[in-house]
Amino acid sequence: MAVYSIAIIGVGKISQDQHLPVIANNPNFRLAALVSQRGLAHPDVPTFKTPAELYAAMPDLDAVAICTPPSARYTIAREALDAGKHVLLEKPPAPTVTELTDLAGYAATLDRVIFTTWHSQYNAAVEEVRSRLIGERIKRLTITWKEDVRRWHPGQDWIWEVGGFGVFDPGINALSILTRIMPGPIFVHDASLVYPSNRDMPIAADLVFSSPVASEAQPGALTAAFDWRQTGEQSWTIDIETDAGQRFSLTGGGSKLAIDGTPLLDAPTPQHGEYEGIYKRFATLLDSGSSAVDVAPFQLVADAFMIGKRVVTEPFED
Ligand code: NAP
Repeated sequence: MAVYSIAIIGVGKISQDQHLPVIANNPNFRLAALVSQRGLAHPDVPTFKTPAELYAAMPDLDAVAICTPPSARYTIAREALDAGKHVLLEKPPAPTVTELTDLAGYAATLDRVIFTTWHSQYNAAVEEVRSRLIGERIKRLTITWKEDVRRWHPGQDWIWEVGGFGVFDPGINALSILTRIMPGPIFVHDASLVYPSNRDMPIAADLVFSSPVASEAQPGALTAAFDWRQTGEQSWTIDIETDAGQRFSLTGGGSKLAIDGTPLLDAPTPQHGEYEGIYKRFATLLDSGSSAVDVAPFQLVADAFMIGKRVVTEPFED
């Protein structure tokens, strides 16, 4: 069994909640170092202030996991590839679609592995629904992804800045499930993006999709509602009805599944097993020397920003 040395770049919430403990429990990986602007430390490994210092000190390092905000990701990923490292990208994988495409091509020219991690895709219900929807037509699809930004992103100013994606930071998780399970292409047909008057990124978004595998008799029946103003119970739900009359209900961010009202899968939430799945897959990709770059969820977000109508709402204070 190969063991890959890996460093984490950006030691924020997701690194501490998921990457560090999951790497520690995966025998295919050995945590070699951290890169932290704030100089955060971890037992038994060095911390570097910049990736350049890391690469100079550890030329044999195999891979990096880039867990910074997305706006910094492209530059850091190029630098890692130039240093000969394999690259795992947190979601969203880059600031723009073209930068992600460039990274994928650049990694290929250097024979390095690059991996776009869409953590929500690693819930068991996602593959279950994907396999059951093959060959089906979709009559109705309703995504409801509503959560409390103050609870999940406390003090994270970057999410409100240009390149921070706003409510699409969680919304892209739903879209990553959607693009994985759809039995055909799906497009953003209409979008309405709600911006607080004092912020550069949306706090809510309503999308209408179209698809060649949707029932023609049901225009506007494929929708997503993202909202960061939800207090109390949080909603990460995708409901689907097929032309054949089957009803799929993915709840808990894709961790729970009911078909025609009967529960089939029920994993704890949130994020249970997602990052274990990510690192298992990364080890497989490294073993085979193959990259996995899934642009589809990211493209839907770009398209929503491209055609989205701007609606201004009251200011938002953290
Ligand atoms: P965060 O808590 O703000 O952490 C990001 C860390 O990156 C910062 O603490 C900082 O760590 C470093 N950093 C910040 N700005 C940087 C810059 N310009 N250049 C280099 N490094 C910088 O954010 P997060 O919640 O962990 O989210 C990071 C990424 O993970 C986002 O893309 C997010 O969508 C994704 N994600 C988050 C969650 C979640 O539950 N929070 C879940 C899944 C995915 P240092 O001071 O250590 O360098």
